[in-house]
Parts: sequence; C-alpha cells; structure tokens
Amino acid sequence: RVEVQNVQRAFGDHKAVDDVSITFEDGGFYALLGPSGSGKTTLLRMIAGFEFPDSGSIRIDGAAVETVPANKRRIGMVFQNYALFPHMSVAANVAFGLEVSGQKGKDVRRAVSEVLDLVQLGDFGKRRPHQLSGGQRQRVALARAIVTKPRVLLLDEPLSALDKALRTTMQGELKRIQREVGVTTIFVTHDQDEALSIADQIGILKDGRIVQSGAPEEIYDRPNSEFAATFLGDAN
Ligand code: ATP
Repeated sequence: RVEVQNVQRAFGDHKAVDDVSITFEDGGFYALLGPSGSGKTTLLRMIAGFEFPDSGSIRIDGAAVETVPANKRRIGMVFQNYALFPHMSVAANVAFGLEVSGQKGKDVRRAVSEVLDLVQLGDFGKRRPHQLSGGQRQRVALARAIVTKPRVLLLDEPLSALDKALRTTMQGELKRIQREVGVTTIFVTHDQDEALSIADQIGILKDGRIVQSGAPEEIYDRPNSEFAATFLGDAN
C-alpha cells in the first residue's frame, strides 16, 4: 500500500500540494481527478520519488520513498506522451526496463512475449514505434511499465492524446489489464467520465487539496461540496 500523510509541496509561495493524506490499498485502481493545476502531477511525481515533499511523508509498503534507491522502488509509469525509443523495436522497448535491472537472455524474451500478449500486441514485437497507431504505442508504453512487475503503477493522463473512441476502448483495456496483473494503480486525469468509468476509488483534488474521496458511485451520488457537484456535473 501507498500511504501519503500530510504531504505539502510548494513552488515559491504557491502550494501545489497542500496537506494531502490518502492511502492507496494493494490492488486498487485509483483515479486522482481534478482540474488543471490542482496538483495531480506533483503528487504523482512525489509518489514516484522524482521530487520530495516539503513536509509530510510518503511510504510504499512501509518504507519512506526517499530511503529506497531509485532502482529498487519498483514503480511503473506511463505518461501522456509515451516516450518510446524511436530507433528500437517494440520488443526492445519493452525489454529495456528488464535489461537495465540486469536481466538477460531467455528470461527477458519470455517476459516480453508474455506482456505483449497481455496488451494484445503479440505480433508486433518487431515493429518500430512509428509503425504503430497511437493506441498501440500506448499499449507498448503500458507493457514497458508492467514488465518489471512493479508494486505500483502510476499513470499520468496516459489516454489524453487519443481520440474519444480509442480512449473509451483503452479505458476498458486498461481496466482488464489492471485486474489481470493486480497491480496497485494510480491514474491521474482531469476527465470526470474517465475517472468514473475506470477507477474503483476516486480522489478529487482542488487547489492542492483532496476535497472528497470514495467509490465512484458514492461521490457521484453524494458530492460533499459545490465544487465536487459542479465538477462531476460537468461530465454530463
Ligand atoms: P494539469 O492537469 O494541468 O497537468 P495538475 O493538476 O497535474 O495540472 P500540477 O502539474 O501538479 O497540476 O501543478 C500544480 C501547481 O503547481 C500548478 O499551479 C503549477 O503551475 C505549479 N507547478 C507545478 N510544477 C511546478 C514547478 N516545477 N515550478 C513551479 N510551479 C510548478
């Protein structure tokens, strides 16, 4: 589990993340939902250990993030712009994370082939990223993030570059894959529909604070503030 406790992070005198406490339980699919500038990415970057809180703590399975060396954190990430290596094949892109951590040969090939099957790209291993559609590239990025069997999967608006129809398909795919792998997943989005359809738990952020958290139907039926009501209402 990921425990975020009283976390603050300011840039100058602007509090990007303001006293956030939230626990992400093992195997859950969480969405952090909020408008632009509400602190979602900053919070995710701190969970990843890319930057650190000014105060408060973030623990993954009991260990404070900053005490664990970067290569031992077991965190998978996918961003909006997939950042695949253009000169490498799909299989090589996916294998990269495993090779960095010292695995070689047959084990790598087997793991890559399994994960490409999982994201339904079993026949695409030899292609280069530019020979794929946007949705397929996004699947490769996801495969690369999960092939190392992370404890936590962090997704920062991974579907926002896709058109509406493909996004809906990929939301279903992401859910299926998350269930199959069972990895604790934190998904950042500003899209209310996406959060409501994809996650088992949602945290709504406003001005760096979590204004409400709970199951989608619960916060949709019983928003606890005008902000939550209006923000979720915008989805209709
Ligand atoms: P978006 O949906 O637009 O990505 P967000 O909810 O992810 O927004 P953040 O990117 O976390 O929001 O930003 C929160 C606030 O912190 C914003 O006001 C942003 O301008 C500010 N901020 C983020 N990173 C920095 C930085 N490196 N330096 C200065 N200000 C920053």
